[in-house]
Amino acid sequence: MLMNSRTYNWGYRTEPEAPTGNRPRFWPRGRALGGSSSVNAMIYTRGHPQDFDHWAARGNPGWDYQSVLPVFRQSQRQQRGADAWHGDAGTMDVVDTTHRFPVSQAFVKACGEAGLPLNDDFNGAQQEGCGFFQVTQTPQGGRANSARSFLDDVMSRPNLTVLTNVRVTRICFDGKVATGVEISRDGASGRRDILSARREVILSAGVINSPHLLKLSGVGPAEELRAHGIPVVHDLPGVGENLQDHPDVIIRCLDKSGTSMTVAPKLSTVAFLARMLFQKPFIFTPTDCGGFVRSHPDEPIPDLQLQFAAVRMQPHGQGLFTPMRSGFVLHICHLRPESRGRVTLRSADPFAAPVIHAGYLTRDKELDALVRGIRLGRQILAQPAMQAFHGGEESPGPQVQSDEALRQWIRDHVETVYHTAGTCPMGNDAMAVVDAGLKVHGVERLRVIDSSVMPTITGSNIHAPTVMIAEKGAEAILSARQGAATVGPIHPGADEKKP
Ligand SMILES: Cc1cc2nc3c(=O)[nH]c(=O)nc-3n(C[C@H](O)[C@H](O)[C@H](O)COP(=O)(O)OP(=O)(O)OC[C@H]3O[C@@H](n4cnc5c(N)ncnc54)[C@H](O)[C@@H]3O)c2cc1C
Repeated sequence: MLMNSRTYNWGYRTEPEAPTGNRPRFWPRGRALGGSSSVNAMIYTRGHPQDFDHWAARGNPGWDYQSVLPVFRQSQRQQRGADAWHGDAGTMDVVDTTHRFPVSQAFVKACGEAGLPLNDDFNGAQQEGCGFFQVTQTPQGGRANSARSFLDDVMSRPNLTVLTNVRVTRICFDGKVATGVEISRDGASGRRDILSARREVILSAGVINSPHLLKLSGVGPAEELRAHGIPVVHDLPGVGENLQDHPDVIIRCLDKSGTSMTVAPKLSTVAFLARMLFQKPFIFTPTDCGGFVRSHPDEPIPDLQLQFAAVRMQPHGQGLFTPMRSGFVLHICHLRPESRGRVTLRSADPFAAPVIHAGYLTRDKELDALVRGIRLGRQILAQPAMQAFHGGEESPGPQVQSDEALRQWIRDHVETVYHTAGTCPMGNDAMAVVDAGLKVHGVERLRVIDSSVMPTITGSNIHAPTVMIAEKGAEAILSARQGAATVGPIHPGADEKKP
């Protein structure tokens, strides 16, 4: 549905690349108020404290874990109540699921049987371990996307106008000063209008479209811009580079108990649909449990994420008939890849999709970790708790066993797990695009505020850290307006009202 929608999904395709079987990958991105949080799986995880300490160490003061923790707490309305790690006075609901398939519960038990620690709060005292994810849904069971969490309540403010069905086609500049944006209301051939900015322009078009728009507007690597006939406003070589994602592979198995989610016309399907309709609250996401594990004891912090779903699905929910049979999948992704991709211009036409090189698996370390991840996944699925469910491995399949066979299988089957980040990285080195206050280097009155500013991807699902970035960005804008010099760390009380 949302995955294949041409209206609500940008539906990008990456370029074929030799290390991963010369096959383009489908890269969905949300195209609606709330962006990708309107199509995502709603899993709420923040990352490891060291992820943020690493950002700060790379020349980004105010982004270390101790500084961002209060910002995470500030956005959150944690159903379990407030504690040292969680806030309950924000506007983004974070709740526990109320519907869990028997096979998901068995999976968590099996993780324990396999010797992994169990964890009921991946965003608390420690990230490592396995259990059920919390989700960004309301306590009544609706999607708590960014629009619902942060926009709905302020929609009627007189100083806010929201335009939908409008495409920004470029940022306008007067010399090096951003002065507004050009928009098109009716597609490529539609009328173009200019919206002027009195104070500054905030670019939040996401990890693909933010660098694309910067380049279309003349901010990016000068050589690439000139090659497409785009006048150079500022030569900024890092725009579109540093693209990162968590490379993901899936173990898919049949469920001999027949109790997992299917679309087959049978009693359990009807029972599930009835629960969806009548159970109050019904809080569910297909990928409801998993965890953060180390692929090797020498890894200092978790380098793999497991995500389990009680449905026999193909990557990206493709293949309508796959869930006719009961089954389950275990996603395994590498959390700290050193491989990098890039977003470049296809042409100067803002309606031409950019060229995306995912750049997966150029490092042996990542492949080795995923090989160990598949072995660990198989070990978990072989535990006693899974005996009543495991009806045979379909993919990679029992014939794929040796390290070499697994490596080849991973190269052929690696996919996105949608955690793309890093194309306008924050920092002060030559390849940085924004500073610690999220202002674009070399130009004035322009900030980027979205997942593209992450210098390195967090070891987690990335919606929560993107919301944290947005909160810090908002604070930076307000401080600038009030005459403060820099963004700095912010520590507002959880119940402090925003002006
Ligand atoms: C299928 C899927 C599942 C995911 N599951 C999870 C999950 O369970 N948990 C989690 O934490 N994260 C998940 N994510 C990732 C997470 O939702 C995103 O990383 C997060 O929303 C931030 O994305 P972003 O910064 O790229 O911007 P986005 O959220 O993609 O927002 C960019 C916005 O800008 C708009 N835009 C872009 N270009 C233009 C233009 N030219 N003119 C006008 N508007 C424009 C877009 O339409 C969109 O609304 C998932 C993502 C996807 C796609």
